Amino acid sequence: YRKGSCNKGERRIFGMNLIIVSGVSGVGKSTIVKRFIEENSEKYELARSVTTRKARTENEYYTFVSREEFQALLEEGAFLETNLYQGSKELYGTPGREVERIVAMGRIPVLEIDVNGKRQIESSADQNYFSPISICITAPPATVYRRLMARGEPMKNIVQRLKTAVEEINIADEYDCFVENKDLETAVKDMKAVISGKSATKRPDINKYRNELIDLIHIIQNTEGVGISG
Ligand code: 5GP
Repeated sequence: YRKGSCNKGERRIFGMNLIIVSGVSGVGKSTIVKRFIEENSEKYELARSVTTRKARTENEYYTFVSREEFQALLEEGAFLETNLYQGSKELYGTPGREVERIVAMGRIPVLEIDVNGKRQIESSADQNYFSPISICITAPPATVYRRLMARGEPMKNIVQRLKTAVEEINIADEYDCFVENKDLETAVKDMKAVISGKSATKRPDINKYRNELIDLIHIIQNTEGVGISG
């Protein structure tokens, strides 16, 4: 495992059989992953996670269960990884069966999970004969802000999410590849290129990115009450 390089993509063209996608709240990762899968559905499939959180919209790709059901699955050893997500205090997990089903179909499973899940998958990779490649999706802070605003959440929550993003960006360093969400089409194309090893990833300047997020938080806090335009 070579920290700070995406050469893994090139080395693993034949061995790679599992893709992990993470990114802070508001970067647009679900939209990118959904489009990527739609365009490459013969080769990739999104693994359906199990969660105890309530459904927000109709077309969310989760299996929704109660705490008791989740606990029972956990005791059966059904999960490859699980996480108690601090943002919602709810449980999430990737069922091993789901990943096996996708592999049996001859496709590559794509796991949209957080960094805790990524670490668990990686530490059990050899034992499970996985060869995961991890992608971190980033977006310019202005884009993150615009997307969070579009969800119609109170400004307080948006600032909280941005603050969480400042914390979370620290872990970006441990991902193999990066895709910046400047616009959807480009991001989907870049994701494909990075996965196939055709393009080396552009490692973002994490310090610069963190500072931009902090600046944005300051601007929001200073303009709050005087009206903010997207
Ligand atoms: P949300 O509630 O916004 O759908 O998801 C919250 C966070 O949990 C996101 O970072 C999402 O990627 C992550 N997540 C979704 N499913 C799983 C899973 O099965 N395992 C882990 N570890 N994280 C997940």
